[in-house]
Amino acid sequence: MIAAAQPDLPMVSAGRIVRVTAYPLCARLPITQRTGQGDWSFIEIVIVEIETDRGLIGIGECLARKGACAYARFINLMFAPLLLGQDPLDRRRHWATLRSILSGRTGGMMIEAIAGVDIALWDIAGKACGLPIHKMLGGMGRSEIQAYASSINWFDDGAVEHEVAAALAAGFTQIKVKIGAPAPAAIDRIRLVRRLAGPDVGLSVDANWAFDVDDAVRVGRALAEHDYMWFEEPIRPEDRQGYRMLRAKLDIRLAAGESDFTAMDAISLVEDRAVGIIQPDVARAGGITETWRIAELAKCFSIAYAPHVGWSGAICVAASLQLAAAAENCVTFECMVFANPLRDGLLEEAVGEASMMVGGKLPIPTGPGLGVVLDRAALQSMIHPDA
Ligand SMILES: [Mg+2]
Repeated sequence: MIAAAQPDLPMVSAGRIVRVTAYPLCARLPITQRTGQGDWSFIEIVIVEIETDRGLIGIGECLARKGACAYARFINLMFAPLLLGQDPLDRRRHWATLRSILSGRTGGMMIEAIAGVDIALWDIAGKACGLPIHKMLGGMGRSEIQAYASSINWFDDGAVEHEVAAALAAGFTQIKVKIGAPAPAAIDRIRLVRRLAGPDVGLSVDANWAFDVDDAVRVGRALAEHDYMWFEEPIRPEDRQGYRMLRAKLDIRLAAGESDFTAMDAISLVEDRAVGIIQPDVARAGGITETWRIAELAKCFSIAYAPHVGWSGAICVAASLQLAAAAENCVTFECMVFANPLRDGLLEEAVGEASMMVGGKLPIPTGPGLGVVLDRAALQSMIHPDA
């Protein structure tokens, strides 16, 4: 049999890397946020920009809640020399090279720093190919993704009533609620929000490790009784045995993964189905390369994937939307509903914002790479004062 003639297409090239710049950013949250771990007034991130001699510029983001200046200095001093002159399309090779700086186990700031570089390299690859990243990952033909409002604060009942009403008015069909200790107060809150939201809204809670196993069992039983969808980070992330105990005792789907770094971490959550939803943060879990591996790993174990966004910035949102569009097992998307200048002020056109929802779903960006354009004046205005 003679193969059909193929069109003579040119080989894609992105050129060579000529610049790597990490910018530490800092912003005050207009409304202080309260979780089971405490209050958040300021947020920091790092934006990574990588440029090639073909004029392509990729943008990435590192999760760096505190200490963004240290992350940026690490990237500029340690990573940049390893990347200059290299082909940006060799993303997996670069991941391994950067990781090899650390001689011990993977994790921590190092992997968050790699995340920013990796996302920027994927942005370059998409721009070089003229494709959005979700098409490069495989493509599920999605133009939109189910979204949930994140999150109702762990404030008093009056404030919560107001926040739930605002989320419903914005058109959300799913809402996440922050809860904390003590367990009886959390159970009261679970009951209150179900009453406020009505029976048809998909509800979930996030405890941010507020409980021990015994209290998590009490709270988890209330969640099942009130038909919640998932119980996020009930206990501290290192306590894998605790997760397995909760899985055996509760009829509520457990969710975790935002506090982990790599696919090796994810294995211990998915191999025995301790969680029903895995939630890696692309700006923490080594970027698109490693987060994709985690999503695929979860798929192999019939576990759902829902990207963590939290208080990250606009590039994390954009990269998470690309992963959400491509992952077979992605079930819902974390749409933050409280103002964060690092998210809603960093791009020329917003991405993943509640105001863009139609029927409770968010549109997937269609432009090449991440499909977003950085607002350079905004970037400069948010440079960390200690930089
Ligand atoms: Mg969470």
